[in-house]
Amino acid sequence: MNGPTDIYLAAPRGFCAGVKRAVDIVENALRDYGAPVFVRHEIVHNRHVVENLRRKGAVFIENLEEIKDKTRPLVFSAHGAAREVYEQAAALGLKVLDATCPLVARVHRQIRKFEEEGRRIIVIGKKEHPEIIGTTGQLNHPDRALVIGSRTEAENLPPFDGKTGVVTQTTLETGAVNDVIAILKNKMPQLETQTVSDICYATTHRQSAVREIAGRCDAVVIIGSQNSSNSRHLKETALKNGVKNVWLIDDASELPFAELENVQKLGISAGASAPEHLVQELVSALQKHYANLKIHDIIVAEEHIEFKS
Ligand code: SF4
Repeated sequence: MNGPTDIYLAAPRGFCAGVKRAVDIVENALRDYGAPVFVRHEIVHNRHVVENLRRKGAVFIENLEEIKDKTRPLVFSAHGAAREVYEQAAALGLKVLDATCPLVARVHRQIRKFEEEGRRIIVIGKKEHPEIIGTTGQLNHPDRALVIGSRTEAENLPPFDGKTGVVTQTTLETGAVNDVIAILKNKMPQLETQTVSDICYATTHRQSAVREIAGRCDAVVIIGSQNSSNSRHLKETALKNGVKNVWLIDDASELPFAELENVQKLGISAGASAPEHLVQELVSALQKHYANLKIHDIIVAEEHIEFKS
């Protein structure tokens, strides 16, 4: 083999409605208030998006103490923030623009409801991920939420027959989360979830599309940054569905041309925080390298969701 002859483009891929809204909020703030605009945490987990906004005057911070000029606006990232961060911003008199994805905000409402109902709360997700810190941070007693990240952790939990509520991170791998919830349901008869899980429509669609291309490809490239949960789980989905070589790369400059020599059918997708121009640049780079590439669009769903910024 001398490199791919066919490209399978997964759809939906790339920007979701929550990411688009978050980026628009920062762009609009820069337009309306001028630079600098402070953004707490990376607005979305994508290196290109962050660098582009930084060039335009966004200043990314982790702690509000880093804001020296309190007259400048502050944007909260799409991942959401703990209640104490909102309180801190209010105490400092900051103008806050909230880019928390509405689907993350829905999980926030649910976890607060579980607390009001006096349920024991289990959160499925990665403890150190900003979305999970923001979600548990909605509680009056965040440390009472039990965060679990794997089947093994679920299996090791002792049975519990009191009222229990489960919420999940929105960007996990659907199969893995369904397995964990099934284990929990066996151990906890009074367990309640908002829906089956809180994994959002965008994550679900992107993973379905990757499953669809996985069956047709020898290798898959996912465009996305290493710290993007959504993108990492697209890679995991492809691996779980039998693709041996899967690369998660930021852009075309990282294409592994030496390894691609042994690939005939190559699948491509992009995480929910990766802009479409990176996919198009990747396809152009492949077309320059390999003559007569056939491009196939594999579309598993149409998306018409928009969130107002
Ligand atoms: S991946 Fe889902 S939860 Fe996250 S920003 Fe996009 S739509 Fe919202």
